Amino acid sequence: MTFFTTHSCEAFRGKQVYEWLWKKGVHRFEDMTNISKHNRELLEEFFIINHIQVHNMQRSSDGTIKNAVRLHDGLIVESVLIPSANRTTACVSSQVGCSLDCKFCATSRLKRMRNLNSDEIYDQVMAINKQSRLYYDQKLTNIVFMGMGEPLMNYNNVLKAIKKITSDEGLGMSPKRIVVSTSGIPKMIKKMAKKNVKFNLAVSLHSAIDEVRSQIMPFNETFPLKDLREALQFWYNKTKRRITYEYIVWEGINDKTKDILALIDFCKFAPSKVNLIEYNPIEDGTFQQGKPQVIAQYVSMLEAKNITVTVRRSRGKDIDAACGQLANKS
Ligand code: SAH
Repeated sequence: MTFFTTHSCEAFRGKQVYEWLWKKGVHRFEDMTNISKHNRELLEEFFIINHIQVHNMQRSSDGTIKNAVRLHDGLIVESVLIPSANRTTACVSSQVGCSLDCKFCATSRLKRMRNLNSDEIYDQVMAINKQSRLYYDQKLTNIVFMGMGEPLMNYNNVLKAIKKITSDEGLGMSPKRIVVSTSGIPKMIKKMAKKNVKFNLAVSLHSAIDEVRSQIMPFNETFPLKDLREALQFWYNKTKRRITYEYIVWEGINDKTKDILALIDFCKFAPSKVNLIEYNPIEDGTFQQGKPQVIAQYVSMLEAKNITVTVRRSRGKDIDAACGQLANKS
């Protein structure tokens, strides 16, 4: 707005440009048709629109679309569109690479190059929204921060992007349709809870036993389950939002009855549900998905304790778009 007033133009032009950029997702000043030619030329002279570009798009036989997204500095992240009968979900990245070292995750093999800024995060959502309308004639209904990176290691930008996604000047989406998935950084979970946020939290738990969790997620040594538990209790007390635990069952790692009992115990301190995720192999052969009967045992023992449990089938496997596979081919 200040730009326009200092150039002797009406201040409301600023609002119009904002709408073109963030509501309509236009990337060229020349396409902003309600702005005069003179003003468009002025904008052209002073600004560059550093938008993301879908550099490569792959479509899975199950309808999942994976985008390799090129950022203004040439780095690539991935974002995924997951259509289903009653919803269309965008899975977005928050960092280029990741600084955590979860042994089973493909992204952990790429070192963290940088955080995405809030506009890059928002733009991924806009790009997927466009694809959803184009290919499935539906607008986006849900967003999960389950792409590359650890959202809580890029806290400010993730929260800023969510603010824009949920605001009327942006996409106007309800925060209840957004899930931030974290490997579990206690300090940041508490910080977020204090802000009274209204979106949902998912925690990649994978084991409720410290020795086991540290083996597969080595940062658990620094942030042990006791601290995670305390932070999550704080989260629930503040937000009253049920926590989702993401959990993969692997052979020989967490497939014993004691693992299930530990998970049941971990689910007690705050309302929660368990999402049993199918493992997507990352081609190193170390991890094997747990046997169906073990998964069935998890389900029946959790349900016997009235804990909600869902078994999530993987999507987009043929194009490596499934969780943890985002770095496998690019
Ligand atoms: N860093 C965040 C978000 C990115 S990972 C987090 O840890 O939650 C998104 C989800 O994919 C997490 O639940 C993670 O545990 C899971 N995941 C990682 N590698 C996977 C794999 N190979 N197969 C299935 N799920 C995987």
